[in-house]
Amino acid sequence: MGSEVKEAPIRVLVTGGSGLVGKAIEHVVQREGGKLEGEEWIFLSSKDANLVDAGQTRAVFEKYRPTHVIHLAAKVGGLYLHMRQNLQFLRDNIKINDNVLQTAHEFGVTKVVSCLSSCIFPDETTYPINETMIHDGPPHDSNFGYSHAKRMIDVQNRAYYRQYGRCYTAVIPTNVFGPYDNFNIENGHVLSALINKTHKAKKEGTPLNVCGSGTPRRQFIYSLDLGRLIIWALRKYKEIDPIIMSVGEEDEVSIKEAVEMIVAALDFKGTIFDTTLSDGQLKKTANNAKLRRYLPDFPFTPLKEAIRMTCDWFVENYDIART
Ligand code: NAP
Ligand code: GDP
Repeated sequence: MGSEVKEAPIRVLVTGGSGLVGKAIEHVVQREGGKLEGEEWIFLSSKDANLVDAGQTRAVFEKYRPTHVIHLAAKVGGLYLHMRQNLQFLRDNIKINDNVLQTAHEFGVTKVVSCLSSCIFPDETTYPINETMIHDGPPHDSNFGYSHAKRMIDVQNRAYYRQYGRCYTAVIPTNVFGPYDNFNIENGHVLSALINKTHKAKKEGTPLNVCGSGTPRRQFIYSLDLGRLIIWALRKYKEIDPIIMSVGEEDEVSIKEAVEMIVAALDFKGTIFDTTLSDGQLKKTANNAKLRRYLPDFPFTPLKEAIRMTCDWFVENYDIART
């Protein structure tokens, strides 16, 4: 009808679109019907723009003119990389986040969903952790650079809302894993590093060296589950306050239990725990009650099954996997 108002086209720009979480969102958008009619989705890698650089950030926004942004790009790594490079984690992530948020604001982007992490919460705290506790005390010493940079996203989101009414918000995932993870043995997160190590140990007939005692506990979220939840947040979550994206507290497991799932999936025997190496945070148990209030029935993929699918993906895609 002639009097119908045409809605502006939706263009979603995903920074960090080539990474673990970005690839999962791409899968949901392209293969699970996550993309709605009339929407355009653009997945960026650092080759499209180095977001540490303000000029390159501006140029990529100028090129795509997004209406919505999912901001995932970050300098990311496992415990042992953080311990070596706190300064670079702080500086790169501060610059990336300020460039993306400010450029989004200048280009009139109506919604931004950024990614925090459950490792940025105070080290000395009560458990379970919830969304109100982000700024309640210093983060764990091992990753203080990354944590302070990430905390500032939350501060900046509040400031854009206060001054300009912008709906820029954030999600807080716990430990993520899945296809397209960084499987590098030195720099990767625990599950991806251990999947690669187990695969290598099996090939070479050597023991699997697990770093630390195996007693720390983690809540692992499968990247595809997180992808589905972030798309939900982009469409439905209207708060500026962040929201924890995690399995329940009852699904927290020890590193040792996770190792058992990996070695079962890859059919390997011969694990050693190197207790001379750091354990990092002993736990960071997060409460997903807020998420459950919005999505009481969201089905998380059981950990054992998700680890098996990730191991299968790694073996089948060894040639293209980040190792
Ligand atoms: P990832 O696999 O390492 O991917 C990082 C992404 O960021 C890649 O697409 C990378 O591009 C891009 N990137 C890095 N530096 C960049 C730069 N200077 N300019 C432009 N792009 C840059 O990381 P991820 O695990 O998917 O993490 C996604 C988000 O989730 C991050 O914000 C992270 O902090 C958060 N998070 C992750 C976890 C986890 O356990 N992995 C847990 C909680 C929160 P290239 O591919 O070109 O390098
Ligand atoms: P975190 O959850 O932020 O601490 O980061 P990670 O994903 O790197 O997990 C670190 C935990 O896994 C620590 O308790 C480590 O001792 C343990 N871990 C055991 N083996 C490995 C390994 O090969 N790589 C990593 N990154 N962590 C390992």
